[in-house]
Amino acid sequence: MPELPEVETVVRVIRPRIEGLRIRSIRRLNGTASLFNGATEAQLNRLVKNQRIRAVTRRGKYIVLELERGVLLIHLRMTGRLLFRKGPDDPERHFTARIDFQNQASLWFRDMRKFGRITYCSDRENWEGRLGPEPLSDQFTLDWLRGELKRRHRKMKALLLDQSFLAGLGNIYVDEVLWAARIHPETLSHRVSQSKAAALHRAIRSILQASIDHQGTTIINFAFGEGKTGNFRSLLQVFGRTGKPCPRCGTAIKKVRVNQRGTHFCPVCQKR
Ligand SMILES: [Zn+2]
Repeated sequence: MPELPEVETVVRVIRPRIEGLRIRSIRRLNGTASLFNGATEAQLNRLVKNQRIRAVTRRGKYIVLELERGVLLIHLRMTGRLLFRKGPDDPERHFTARIDFQNQASLWFRDMRKFGRITYCSDRENWEGRLGPEPLSDQFTLDWLRGELKRRHRKMKALLLDQSFLAGLGNIYVDEVLWAARIHPETLSHRVSQSKAAALHRAIRSILQASIDHQGTTIINFAFGEGKTGNFRSLLQVFGRTGKPCPRCGTAIKKVRVNQRGTHFCPVCQKR
């Protein structure tokens, strides 16, 4: 699933192409009834039709089209991609929606698994209030992280995946940052030492930034623009490397399940 660096990459590709355009219509193609999060196509069109896209930004794993009134949120979930045109071999059934603009341009939503969502939100503050801070923003300070880890008593893997705690991390980057900070994924947050909290804070910022610089990680089903893929995969230290040597100590990377999520870690570097 695309995480913060992959969504940021998509935003940077579509921003120069659609900022300033006016929406003519949004059509549901082969999407499920829940594509618009409970709204019908007619309801959604009444809300966004003729609105100009003032800015294209990102919040957590959401692509945010800032309109003159309200925002249009796109969540790619498992397999969503945004394309400016259909490829010659793209099956019709994989396209769930299409946004048409008044200048005749279109943005196609290709989503094989159909979990992606397009949602209109009139009250941005209320929506954003449910998300934790942005890890690359000034709000995400070491003091804040230390305080929150102490206050909560949850397994680190589960806590870092929780978007209401910190927005943008998913399964790949949580495994990577915990390995970098030498924290076992099942360690309870209030037991994380001050120095490991500092290492975690550094790792979250540097790994996300490095991945953005490499245009994200391509494991499966992430692509942007005209089928370009990210280059961060070769820099992954633990994710998807079960049985391969830990880059720090050579011990075989283990894979376990923590809160139903496949979790990679080094049993020597990341002691409980
Ligand atoms: Zn190790």
